[in-house]
Amino acid sequence: MTVLSSGSRGNSTVVSSSRTRVLVDAGLSCRELLRRMAAANEDPATLDAILITHEHQDHVAGLGVLARKLRIPVFLTEPTHRAWVRMLTPRTTMTYAHWVELRAQQRAAAAAEQAAREAVGEHANDIIEQIFAESDAEIAAEAETAEAVPEAEVAEPVDALSKVRAAPTYLPAIEHFQAGVNFAIGDIAITPFTIPHDAADPCGFVFEAEGMRIGIATDLGYIPTNVKQALKRCDVVMLESNHDLEMLRDGPYPWSVKQRVMSRVGHLSNDAASEFLEKEYDGGAAYVILAHLSESNNLPSLARIAAENALAGRMGLLGNKLVLAQQGEPTESICL
Ligand SMILES: [Zn+2]
Ligand SMILES: [Zn+2]
Repeated sequence: MTVLSSGSRGNSTVVSSSRTRVLVDAGLSCRELLRRMAAANEDPATLDAILITHEHQDHVAGLGVLARKLRIPVFLTEPTHRAWVRMLTPRTTMTYAHWVELRAQQRAAAAAEQAAREAVGEHANDIIEQIFAESDAEIAAEAETAEAVPEAEVAEPVDALSKVRAAPTYLPAIEHFQAGVNFAIGDIAITPFTIPHDAADPCGFVFEAEGMRIGIATDLGYIPTNVKQALKRCDVVMLESNHDLEMLRDGPYPWSVKQRVMSRVGHLSNDAASEFLEKEYDGGAAYVILAHLSESNNLPSLARIAAENALAGRMGLLGNKLVLAQQGEPTESICL
């Protein structure tokens, strides 16, 4: 397992068995993801699939480009897929204010035309109507010739296909999964579970292969029972330790954003992560990875001390090596 990047500026992790290799999230640019894989001795050409937790930018920034470049399937839930497509689709509807303005312009133009007609008088009107009648006939004739042109000459099917492939929402292959329903990619069994976060259908994952179990839960406002359950019997637990509550309260974020981060569908604080590690966690993992640390509202030392205190009674006894996932460079690979 290699965390390529973790934090609000981008998340991506490689999880692999000896036969299968999966990228969890693609939250950096394609170029940067490839650069980090190279730095971590991970060959992008051996990736079997990309798995997405949710559609927030820090988890999907490089998704489309990377999937198209590597020509590998993307696994995500249907609501997440729809939300991602919506994010990349330019708005075609106009605002009410814009509509009112457009309507006023149309009315003014019609009124001006009417005034012009009235000014030139009856005789001129006859001439105008005659011109209109002639041009109507011309348009009708053109339409008939257009219909006579064979389809193939109008649109090249190859062009249409390459247009689809060039669209930012095009993915070479898509698999939809559902939270709570297990599936497999190669020899890795995957259990997606729902996490409380303000996205369309956010998920955490448990990966199982070759007798090893890896649990990933980041981007969650609190730890509900189903997540506590999923993180049992794991050899690696990757858990969010997003912010120090005091730093967040006194920090630079506007109040509305602070509220969002602290909410039940926001992010997990150092205190909340520690409380889980102290009271609910079964203590059986060889590695505990603290992830998605905020750069504005946390310090690696604060997250580490909180978790170390929580694990104090269990440390030396069962391993539990504490690792801090990094934002700026790949974290050292974990081999089980
Ligand atoms: Zn998120
Ligand atoms: Zn995130």
